[in-house]
Amino acid sequence: MPPGEFELIERYFSRSTPRRDVLLGVGDDAALLEMPPGRVLVAATDTLVEGRHFLPGAPAESVGHQALAVNLSDLAAMGAEPAWALLSLSIPSADEDWVRRFADGLHALAGHHGVALVGGDTVRGPRVITVTALGTVEPGLALRRDGAQPGDVLYVSGSPGEAAAGLERLGSGAPFDLADPLVRRYLYAEPRLALGRALAGRATAAMDVSDGLLGDLGKLCAASGVAARLDLDRLPVSSALAAHGTLADRERWVLYGGDDYELLFTVPAPAAMAFEATLRSSVPVTRIGAIEAGSGVRCLRRGVEERVEGSGYDHFA
Ligand code: ADP
Ligand code: MG
Repeated sequence: MPPGEFELIERYFSRSTPRRDVLLGVGDDAALLEMPPGRVLVAATDTLVEGRHFLPGAPAESVGHQALAVNLSDLAAMGAEPAWALLSLSIPSADEDWVRRFADGLHALAGHHGVALVGGDTVRGPRVITVTALGTVEPGLALRRDGAQPGDVLYVSGSPGEAAAGLERLGSGAPFDLADPLVRRYLYAEPRLALGRALAGRATAAMDVSDGLLGDLGKLCAASGVAARLDLDRLPVSSALAAHGTLADRERWVLYGGDDYELLFTVPAPAAMAFEATLRSSVPVTRIGAIEAGSGVRCLRRGVEERVEGSGYDHFA
């Protein structure tokens, strides 16, 4: 007999937590969480719908990972330290094997970042997963989208575009093969939490790239009331990406691909060298342009302006 709602919760979602700030976790009507003094709460929530945000047939572990990762990425983009998460899980049946593997993926990522699952809801319905991630940040150090200033250096972390390339391979029938670095990158994107913390108080603006670098840069510019120059020649292309597709494919993945959850951010030019020096050991970051007065995004190739679809944010109006 398949397990009931309460057995599923008991077996897979009520692990004890090592966090001492969880005064009361899963099992009561709500959780009691102790805020560290002098910090503010940072809250983010994101929903994944099967067939829309993850592929039917995706390994359940990867769905559990992704459901938390997209939310931790939002906390990273705010410069927050993650602490707690809530999970609302809608599943068509009490498929215990799927739930166990989903929970394994979610708990693995949570454990890696010291996040405690402190509550949620479990219902029958189409496969839809909502995670709410909670963290804290020192007021004044939070990273926002609206602080970019003309003259700031524009950076992106890691290697955007890999996940989009992986998704495209899966879409054309490739197996869910974790030995394929691009597929793996799509299924197991890493939220850039350490980088976000390193940026807190240093970057003038930051956001995570979830809808594609070009479009998200347009959003950052709009929020800050500035324009950006994007140097197409400087866009990072990882070795995994370089081995696939044409030049045009790679540029499309890097500019328009989502799902990598890299951070896009700006640093005042005089502080940029020192900033890069302090980051040497963690995730790579690449200068890809600069903030300018005005509005919209100008794309330059070898110093010559090029019309790139979706660059002026007016296109999204
Ligand atoms: P209530 O009816 O009071 O809302 P529920 O019966 O829905 O409580 O849930 C019982 C307990 O289990 C609550 O503490 C709730 O937060 C927790 N819970 C339910 N589903 C999940 C889940 N998927 N993940 C984590 N905690 C869950
Ligand atoms: Mg209740």
